[in-house]
Amino acid sequence: MNSGKTRVVIAGGGTAGWLAAYSLAKRLGTQLEITLVESDLIGTVGVGEATIPTMKSFHSLMEIDEREFMMATQATFKLGIWFDNWANIGDSYIHSFGVVGKGSWMAEFHEYWLELYSQGLGGNLEDYCLEWKAAKQGKFAIQAGKTNLNYAYHLNATAYAQFLRGKSEALGAKRVEGKIARVNVSAQSGNIESLDLESGVSVAGDFFIDCTGFRALLIGEVLGVGYEEWGHWLAADSAWAVQTENTQAPPPYTRAIAHPIGWQWRIPLQHRTGNGIVYSSRFCSDDEARSLLLKNLTGPAITEPRQLKFRTGRREQPWHRNCVALGLAAGFLEPLESTSIHLITTALIRLMRLFPFGGEFEHQAERFNTESRFEWEEVRDFVILHYKQTRRNDSAFWNHYRDMEVPRNVTHRIEIFRKNGYVWPDKVNLFRVDSWLQVMLGQGVFPERHHGATRIPGTASLGQTLEQIRANVANNLAQMPDHQAFIDRYCPIPRAAT
Ligand SMILES: Cc1cc2nc3c(=O)[nH]c(=O)nc-3n(C[C@H](O)[C@H](O)[C@H](O)COP(=O)(O)OP(=O)(O)OC[C@H]3O[C@@H](n4cnc5c(N)ncnc54)[C@H](O)[C@@H]3O)c2cc1C
Repeated sequence: MNSGKTRVVIAGGGTAGWLAAYSLAKRLGTQLEITLVESDLIGTVGVGEATIPTMKSFHSLMEIDEREFMMATQATFKLGIWFDNWANIGDSYIHSFGVVGKGSWMAEFHEYWLELYSQGLGGNLEDYCLEWKAAKQGKFAIQAGKTNLNYAYHLNATAYAQFLRGKSEALGAKRVEGKIARVNVSAQSGNIESLDLESGVSVAGDFFIDCTGFRALLIGEVLGVGYEEWGHWLAADSAWAVQTENTQAPPPYTRAIAHPIGWQWRIPLQHRTGNGIVYSSRFCSDDEARSLLLKNLTGPAITEPRQLKFRTGRREQPWHRNCVALGLAAGFLEPLESTSIHLITTALIRLMRLFPFGGEFEHQAERFNTESRFEWEEVRDFVILHYKQTRRNDSAFWNHYRDMEVPRNVTHRIEIFRKNGYVWPDKVNLFRVDSWLQVMLGQGVFPERHHGATRIPGTASLGQTLEQIRANVANNLAQMPDHQAFIDRYCPIPRAAT
């Protein structure tokens, strides 16, 4: 300890490192002395540009102004993910962030809709969800009528880290440039004591946060905490990423296009589009994946394609001794549902709640690790659902996924929905009923039955109630501007950044 403050040393300055520096400086800055070490020579992973709505709440907790953030990161709004070719070639569906209709305590909304649908009434399920309809029509507003929309962002990852760095330094966090050459561990306690840089500088601390990305220098290499591999469920281990010019106004959704050997992302920013292909080296060569990506770009490339290799899984104990791993050092799940930055922010909230001011780590670490475990498993299972529930049989890649054994949680969810239409939110309430529902329907699972309580109101009364919800969605939608028009008014980027 130094002047009564706990010395926190953050190793690594990517999205994880700077999110940690800013959040700790903002919310615990009077109690902590924060130093971040990063190496410009090593650089950051440079991807991670699609998010989920929890980022909005995290920013609000951390008092990040939305317009300032969006202008600094050339951000656009995201109402969901548009999936192509997942259940069958030629199919499309949207996983929107919206709430679909309004259910009761006994039955979810979609079950009431199923009752009408089984009688040829009630229209399409998307007619009951503003975000779903707006995404499809390329519209956006923060509020329409009395409805606040549930949305996330697409952002420039490099600019986001710079934005957070500026804010962290303004709050007193110190940045030290240099490559970490050695991590010193106390022979007595097993705790990390300091980081020696190649420059000869040494940075001592009481508590260390490992944000060194896939290298996991502190938690993995030095403390020897193992990594639980999930490659048997999620086979992808590689990606190519490339940026292109925008050829159309940015749509308010991420695109996830399935190919015979993997899937391709398209993430629209105000001034360019991020593209990439995720694939498994077990099923295709790097060259094949690269050329498939380049063939499916919608605009001229403005960067050279960059390859990324990864291991899907999680750190067995993301908190060990006096070290917590965040970001890629804590684990990696492919970006199909854009959850990595979210997992950084929830880990940060958890860390701030459990922060070891007394210098005692063991019990806090145990709790932190238990909570993390639940969370990662739920996200993993949601991602697995997209692959498992396919009818594609056009390649070894899809045959593998269609036939593979999956965690019981996934089969249970699919089977209960198929037989009874029942859906429940996950344990950590990240993917709510609406998310599981939209993806299961989108992936071609349709319920055989639904809850009997939905017949109690009678067709006429149920029809009227649903008609009101549909009309409300349609009215709100009619008032919404195009996504681009909203951005132009709300958060246009300065000319120099275009
Ligand atoms: C293909 C792909 C697509 C992705 N897409 C998304 C997405 O759409 N949405 C999403 O939420 N997430 C996505 N992610 C994940 C996202 O990129 C990361 O979660 C996020 O960028 C955080 O990375 P990081 O800060 O942990 O690591 P990095 O960005 O790799 O940062 C590591 C830092 O550690 C420093 N460092 C490493 N070793 C040393 C050393 N010896 N000395 C000093 N410094 C060192 C580096 O200089 C760097 O500053 C994606 C990841 C991949 C691989």
